Amino acid sequence: MKKKAPPRPICLSVVENNPITPHMRRIVLTGSALATYPAISTSAYIKLLFDLDGNPLDTPPSSKEAVQMRTYTIRALERQNKRLSIDMALHGEGSQEGPASHWAKHAQPGSSILVGGPGNGKPLAKHYDWVLFAGDMTSLPAIASHLEALPSNVHGYAVIQITSEEDKQLLKTPDNVQVKWVIGHGSQLVENVAQLPWLTGIPAIWAACEFSSMRGLRTLFRDQRQVPHSQLYISSYWREGRSEDQHKVDKRKDAEAFATAK
Ligand SMILES: Cc1cc2nc3c(=O)[nH]c(=O)nc-3n(C[C@H](O)[C@H](O)[C@H](O)COP(=O)(O)OP(=O)(O)OC[C@H]3O[C@@H](n4cnc5c(N)ncnc54)[C@H](O)[C@@H]3O)c2cc1C
Repeated sequence: MKKKAPPRPICLSVVENNPITPHMRRIVLTGSALATYPAISTSAYIKLLFDLDGNPLDTPPSSKEAVQMRTYTIRALERQNKRLSIDMALHGEGSQEGPASHWAKHAQPGSSILVGGPGNGKPLAKHYDWVLFAGDMTSLPAIASHLEALPSNVHGYAVIQITSEEDKQLLKTPDNVQVKWVIGHGSQLVENVAQLPWLTGIPAIWAACEFSSMRGLRTLFRDQRQVPHSQLYISSYWREGRSEDQHKVDKRKDAEAFATAK
């Protein structure tokens, strides 16, 4: 069967760019195309389009090779008001920064950018006794959206690695979901998740973070905790020292190697 062509990117303009915490900014985009935007699921994402110099594109690129795409979770979509919000983590300085992080710091109201997508969000397993979310600043928007959508009687954990103490956010969670903030970077996320008292019954696990941490968590969940495939969503959202384009290649190879090793 012929694969359906992805929707054409739409041009949106920035209406607001405000800090949420020191290392996270909320960008609100608007445009007439949002009035008829497709229905989205929790943790659905868009692609921001930049040229090869890192400038936001506002006209379609001449070819696929002339564009750098960066992926961001839709934090909120208000079709009636034609507003779409994304929460962007800030990282690096100068050449370490990446086009998306640079844009998040500097995008002015009125400026435009092409936006691809939306891509489907990744749901929690349907049936479970308890939940476990694990992530970092990049998946905090998706985790926050999932937590907000949970029924009030759910219990479990959300373990979230953030850059600094001041990057903690007030999250809307069921009373019995314990939020544990991990300050810093590297393997601390995996270590903190490994130390959690494992609850009884079947978990639904949703995890997204840096590539090496993802691999550490995958080993913990699959090999040590024997979590069945059906109860686990796990993904890397970025990789230390690699741009999103390079990370995409690494991710594909890792998934193939993991599938072969099973
Ligand atoms: C499905 C999905 C949803 C995502 N949703 C969000 C979201 O809602 N909010 C969000 O902030 N991110 C999100 N991300 C992650 C984001 O797409 C990446 O962090 C992306 O690489 C940032 O692009 P950039 O242009 O800033 O940096 P790139 O050009 O991709 O990378 C440049 C350098 O910066 C480093 N880098 C990239 N991201 C980070 C980081 N977060 N911390 C430290 N160093 C980094 C890279 O390792 C590289 O060395 C999502 C990713 C996926 C796959």
